[in-house]
Amino acid sequence: MKSFESNKGSLFKICIVGDGGVGKTAITDRFLGKKFQTGYQLTIGAEIKVYTQNIDGKEIKYQIWDLAGQPRFKFVRSSFYKGSHAIIMVFDLTKIESLFNLFSWKQEVFKYIGYEIPLMILGNKNDLKDQIEKRIIRDCIKKLKHEFLLAEISYFSTSALNGQNISDALRAIGRILLRTPLIDLYEKVIIAK
Ligand code: GDP
Ligand code: MG
Repeated sequence: MKSFESNKGSLFKICIVGDGGVGKTAITDRFLGKKFQTGYQLTIGAEIKVYTQNIDGKEIKYQIWDLAGQPRFKFVRSSFYKGSHAIIMVFDLTKIESLFNLFSWKQEVFKYIGYEIPLMILGNKNDLKDQIEKRIIRDCIKKLKHEFLLAEISYFSTSALNGQNISDALRAIGRILLRTPLIDLYEKVIIAK
C-alpha cells in the first residue's frame, strides 16, 4: 500500500482509444510536442509514450498507451488496459459513426479493466468544417454517462492539427487523477482480479 501511495503525483498510465483514423497518434504526438504529420501511419499493436507535465507545481508523469484502433488488433488490446488510471476516448468530429462507436469502446475497455476509472472524451479535428451537431454530441455523452453509471466524464473539442485544447485536456485529466485516491484504485484492482 505504501509504495502505491508514494506513486501519487508521479506516474499515471493512460490508454487512448477510438476508431482508426480519429487522430489518437496525432494527439499523443502533440502531447510530446512533436510536429503534426499529414500522412497516415498505421499504429500497430500499441505505442507507449511518456510525457511529463507540471500541474500546480507538481510534476506528473503520464505513460500514454496509444492503442491500435483496427478490429484485427482487438486480441492484443485486452492486455494493454490492465493497470490503467484513466482512459481517453477519441472520436472524429466529422465522422458520426466514430462518436456512436464510443459505446462499444467503453464496453470493451471496462470489460477488461473491470472497475471504473476517470474517462475523458475528445472530439478531435475541430479545425475541419461539417462537424457533427453539438446537440448530438451532448446527447451521446449524456447517454454514455447514464448507461455506464459514470459519475464523471470530461469532454474537450480538440485539434491535433493546430494543438487547440490538447494540453488543457491532459491537464484536466491530471487534476482529476490527483484528486482520485489511488488506494481506492488499488483495492478495486485486487477485487477485479
Ligand atoms: P489514429 O488512427 O487514431 O492514430 O489517427 P492518426 O493520428 O494517425 O490520424 C489520422 C489522420 O487524421 C492523419 O492523416 C492525421 O494527419 C489526421 N488528423 C489527426 N488529427 C487531426 C486534426 O485535429 N485535424 C485534422 N485536420 N486532421 C487530423
Ligand atoms: Mg494511430
